[in-house]
Amino acid sequence: MCGIFGIYRVSEASKYIYFGLYSLQHRGQEGAGIAVFNGQKIKYWKNLGLVSEVFKENILKELSGEIGIGHVRYSTTGLPVIQNVQPFCVNFAKKTLALAHNGNLVNAYQIRTELEEEGHIFQTTMDSEVIMHLIVKHLKEGLVSAISKAMYQIRGAYSVLLLYNDTLVAFRDPWGFRPLALGILNGGYVISSETCAFDLISAQYLRDIEPGEILVIDQKGIHSFFPFKETHFKLSHCIFEFIYFARPDSLIFKKNVYLVRKNLGYNLYKECPLEADLVMPFPDSGNYAAIGYAQASGLPLEFGVIRNHYIGRTFIEPSEKIRDFSVKVKLNPVKELIKGKEVIIIDDSLVRGTTCRNRLKSIKEAGAKKIHFLLSCPPIKHPCFFGIDFPSASELIASKHSVEEIRKFLDINTLYYLSIEGLLEAVGELKDKVCLACFNGEYPIEVDYSFRKDIIEV
Ligand code: SF4
Repeated sequence: MCGIFGIYRVSEASKYIYFGLYSLQHRGQEGAGIAVFNGQKIKYWKNLGLVSEVFKENILKELSGEIGIGHVRYSTTGLPVIQNVQPFCVNFAKKTLALAHNGNLVNAYQIRTELEEEGHIFQTTMDSEVIMHLIVKHLKEGLVSAISKAMYQIRGAYSVLLLYNDTLVAFRDPWGFRPLALGILNGGYVISSETCAFDLISAQYLRDIEPGEILVIDQKGIHSFFPFKETHFKLSHCIFEFIYFARPDSLIFKKNVYLVRKNLGYNLYKECPLEADLVMPFPDSGNYAAIGYAQASGLPLEFGVIRNHYIGRTFIEPSEKIRDFSVKVKLNPVKELIKGKEVIIIDDSLVRGTTCRNRLKSIKEAGAKKIHFLLSCPPIKHPCFFGIDFPSASELIASKHSVEEIRKFLDINTLYYLSIEGLLEAVGELKDKVCLACFNGEYPIEVDYSFRKDIIEV
């Protein structure tokens, strides 16, 4: 998963992009980059690491200009190495281009193989580079025509920002898998994966970039194109953005994430009304559904485990073996609150189950009398090919085991998953416009089950 942010005609663009990326950091922590048009060419800086680690004041000063794009990366195709950090920048026919992509293409490998046979030379192992090659290949026909031709060929999830000298373009796949929003700031434009980035810089949300839309912003103004004449694309917004991925203070697909998560909690209570001493989330992912469950049930909401927010991506392991260190360093139970109590614990999802098992064990060791564990999404049984980094089906606990088997494995009194109906009810009018493939295996696009994240690596 990744986050993208673009800006048009706003002074100190690189600083605003920095703040935008800072707000989108949850969408990718492996690498970050910014590319800015300085009046003559595109200058860029990118590296592995968090936004605050990659960019310092002096670097942002070097990236002067009013138009630019940025990217935070979590790899779903191509390894987490420096050459795969975006924006991906090229010089071509005395023009400079930069591209930032969120999503995952399902046919990048096939297209790349064909292009390589034609003589194209690739610099990275990202699926995103294929998009740039296809655009450049048709550029002499005009920018919109070139992007349209690329969109006809690629399949999968793509929310893209393209900088072509002083023109900023946003385009989005016709299924609408990943979010992308347009805003205004100081007379200029901003585009972001999520609207939480607008709030930080006091930009105003205007509208979403629509599925299948190409939005061009240049000296003549703002122009919208819809290259697909077909209407057979089934809208397939990623429902997992609501369940886990997006920030709760964002609007995605025109809906607030916090309120949807609370609805998930209400619906959990409707489907599984339990009596207990308290409701508690596994923070932060379970917080908002737990609020919903507690409000619907009238039971007290408590924060029975405390999260350490200061865990870096790498920390020094203790030299002597401390039991369950890796679990306790992140989430630590409040023993005095939990001891002797019957607790309802809410979390967003269960993937492999091993980390969760250790967390639940620590609640038991803190003295909980009974543990009821409720999940605000249905069992994840199938991998995602559209940009969420779930493991293969064989590693997904729910693809191989029944709910009762998982309950026994977790060693708890109750395990309940929200139903697909409960999930759909929580997103209201979007219920016919979402992807549910990781739950029901019905992929909106034909996928290649042999896909691996490192498929393009040589
Ligand atoms: S398969 Fe699941 S995670 Fe992937 S796009 Fe669909 S809903 Fe989202």
